[in-house]
Amino acid sequence: MKIGFIGLGNMGGPMAANLAKAGHEVTGFDMANVAIEGVTLAASGAEAATGAEVVITMLPNGDILRKVAAEIIPAMSKGAVFLDCSTVDVASARAVAEDAQKAGLSALDAPVSGGIGGASGGTLTFMVGGDDAGFATAKPLFDIMGQKAVHCGPSGNGQAAKICNNMILGVTMIATCEAFALADKLGLDRQAMFDVVSTSSGYSWSINAYCPAPGVGPQSPADNGYKPGFAAELMLKDLRLAQQAAEEADADTPMGQAARDLYAQFVEGEDGLGRDFSAMLPRFEARKRG
Ligand code: NAD
Repeated sequence: MKIGFIGLGNMGGPMAANLAKAGHEVTGFDMANVAIEGVTLAASGAEAATGAEVVITMLPNGDILRKVAAEIIPAMSKGAVFLDCSTVDVASARAVAEDAQKAGLSALDAPVSGGIGGASGGTLTFMVGGDDAGFATAKPLFDIMGQKAVHCGPSGNGQAAKICNNMILGVTMIATCEAFALADKLGLDRQAMFDVVSTSSGYSWSINAYCPAPGVGPQSPADNGYKPGFAAELMLKDLRLAQQAAEEADADTPMGQAARDLYAQFVEGEDGLGRDFSAMLPRFEARKRG
């Protein structure tokens, strides 16, 4: 398949490389100077999009996505698929999809989970919004870049699934970290705490798969000095998107709001920038109050 790939950063770079390795003809563009194995570089986004059957974007945010979309949609061939894998606000995802459809294209929003490791290992999970025909065209590409693709409904629903999932993740990570800090103060051994909670009704991915306490549970960023992993600032980005969506949809999300405020304080007012999002545990240990 002839593929255009715009945004060849930490995630987009290895995703594009995996598509090229699988035999697809990938033409890429990034504002920064990059070199990706197997990917031919174009001089602009429009050039990368010209003649492609699928154009994939993997960009930092909704404003940049809107700008890039305005440039590449007119260059794309009718019937081609505009596949955005960035994490952006639901409103931008739906606006871009509408413009693409008006131009005779299929549009999919397909944010991912799995991080940089999943991008290079080809084990991402895609949460996909958009039409059936576009999903069917993109499915073989999802199979190369990931291990699972869930079609969540019409345009914007992929982003909706992503931010709802990550809102749960942010809230459960905070709850897990504050419970560990409380357990410490109560004299409960961390291994005992892990053994009980990970097999009781307090269990969640945050403790079972990504335990924020070093030395107990599976290997996680806590065992590596809280080097990301999933950086606290990326969690903050997703929690802000969730609150933006909640305001637009008039949904009541008090726990999501509290999680956003706490991560904002951690990243912007304390020492959270550049640390893993599970570094909330040492933060609570230091008894910093929100
Ligand atoms: P990144 O900053 O490494 O990559 C973004 C790339 O886009 C950069 O290389 C940048 O030069 C390029 N870019 C910016 N504006 C551009 C433009 N106008 N035209 C062309 N290229 C442009 O970010 P990343 O970590 O690869 O994340 C990309 C997206 O994936 C984000 O939306 C992020 O939220 C999401 N995401 C990231 C992770 C992760 O762990 N890093 C996990 C899941 C989802």
